[in-house]
Amino acid sequence: MRVLLTGGAGYIGAHTATVLAGRGHEIVLVDNFANAERDVPARLARLTGQAMTLIEADIRDTETLTAALRAHEVEAVIHFAALKAVGESEVDPLLYYDMNIIGTIRLLQAMRAANVGRIVFSSSATVYGQPDSAPVREDAPTRAENIYGRTKLVMEDLIRDLARTGPLRAAANLRYFNPVGAHPSAQIGEMPRGVPNNLMPYITQVATGLRPHLNVFGTDYPTADGTGVRDYIHVMDLAEAHALALEYIGAHDETLTLNLGTGTGISVLELVRAFERATGRPIPLHFAPRRPGDVASNYADPSLAARVLGWKARLNIEDMCRDAWRWQAAQAGINDI
Ligand code: NAD
Ligand code: UDP
Repeated sequence: MRVLLTGGAGYIGAHTATVLAGRGHEIVLVDNFANAERDVPARLARLTGQAMTLIEADIRDTETLTAALRAHEVEAVIHFAALKAVGESEVDPLLYYDMNIIGTIRLLQAMRAANVGRIVFSSSATVYGQPDSAPVREDAPTRAENIYGRTKLVMEDLIRDLARTGPLRAAANLRYFNPVGAHPSAQIGEMPRGVPNNLMPYITQVATGLRPHLNVFGTDYPTADGTGVRDYIHVMDLAEAHALALEYIGAHDETLTLNLGTGTGISVLELVRAFERATGRPIPLHFAPRRPGDVASNYADPSLAARVLGWKARLNIEDMCRDAWRWQAAQAGINDI
């Protein structure tokens, strides 16, 4: 298919582009480089052998988007572009409403104008807030516990509304659990700016010596070892799910909401041990109080995605650690594994 990726130079978008190119899809990347390095499209071209069209634009620029959708005869959009920092969203809610909600409205207007009726959307497990129990199914109650989460819920609703009322023919809301890892080539990966909020990039920066230790936030959760439990999923598995979802909605006029996770909960300490095993790098720990707003345990029931798409995560926690490390080590100029 001819597919336009908003936020296509970002972490998940770029990995998805490699898988889509490998499956013969033609790709148009749209990004304003608010949170991406400018050389990502060139890296993608080298990795895939496909010179992807790059349009440097903001998704709120409906005119440019409409023109791009028409000029490239785009059949479907994968909508990654968004701001994603929970803390920042609580400091500047209007920025998040503008980029995420208004941005999605503008994109949907462009899609309607260009008669593009298929969309895959980057949602998040954050829409479940503090889940009542895990594993979490797609029919679990949703709740916004911060501004970022609220924008994801609103964006999902906008897409469902347009699918119900006509402008969209098919949509897949994909609720990611905790994406980690990098492309096995170590040519693309996650590039957090400043101090990472997320666990895996923090661990890899401790491993390079950039940070002295990992703060383990909370050791008294009602989990097996007292630390928080999450469903980490390799970004390449996630990328493959996007390709399958795209192909599914290309063939079926349906609206889907799917969890993308492995279905296995991993604690902070389990992840640290897996990282040390996979890389041979020790991670010094400091035990710290709980981080405000964190849930004890959240992991997916991914069986609906398995039934509908025939998709299942294949890479395990050590693969995730190894690839995250290979990427971070390459960035830091460490010739390690
Ligand atoms: P990312 O920041 O690496 O990628 C987002 C990309 O969108 C960036 O390249 C950025 O420059 C671009 N962008 C942002 N605002 C834009 C705008 N107004 N116009 C054009 N481009 C814009 O983030 P990611 O981790 O790849 O996340 C992709 C999507 O997945 C986001 O919607 C995010 O909310 C969602 N998500 C991410 C995670 C995660 O842990 N990474 C988890 C759940 C959901
Ligand atoms: N975490 C931690 N130290 C860190 C970052 C995260 O102990 O420096 C813990 C956090 O409390 C949670 C888990 O790691 O239990 C995953 O956190 P992350 O921010 O990666 O994902 P999220 O909480 O958004 O699911």
